[in-house]
Amino acid sequence: MAVERTFSILKPDATERNLTGAINAMIEKAGLRIVAQKRVRITKDQAEQFYSVHKARPFFGELVDFMISAPVVVQVLEGEGAIAKYRDVMGATDPSKAADGTIRKTHAKSIGENSVHGSDSAENAAIEIAQFFSGNEIVG
Ligand code: UDP
Repeated sequence: MAVERTFSILKPDATERNLTGAINAMIEKAGLRIVAQKRVRITKDQAEQFYSVHKARPFFGELVDFMISAPVVVQVLEGEGAIAKYRDVMGATDPSKAADGTIRKTHAKSIGENSVHGSDSAENAAIEIAQFFSGNEIVG
């Protein structure tokens, strides 16, 4: 399988509860390498752009407000099949439906405050990484 890069966010519910280390341990245990990472406060414009695909959904406003409610940690993860692998490690969007041992089953508070984001395709991974990182910030 090819080595890929995917984009990850440790969301406000994770940073607020001091769970960034616990989640990073789960990421690294799964064989993914954190090749870029920074703690940032994202702006409303950034959050709206990032989740623009969900603009028409009823939860959009709440989602944007949540994403700007506290700092987040944005990351680039690298590894074999990293995009699908991280989706597996994250677990289902709704933590009550997520498999045991996944980040969301272990840590998420709700379907909205679900601790992590991970890209869902190679195309989106490239777009999302470029939204938050310049090339020289990624050190593989
Ligand atoms: N979300 C929400 N309510 C829902 C579905 C999604 O608040 O009913 C939020 C949740 O934070 C989720 C994000 O919107 O992670 C993006 O939704 P998507 O379906 O893309 O899920 P993901 O790819 O994050 O698993």
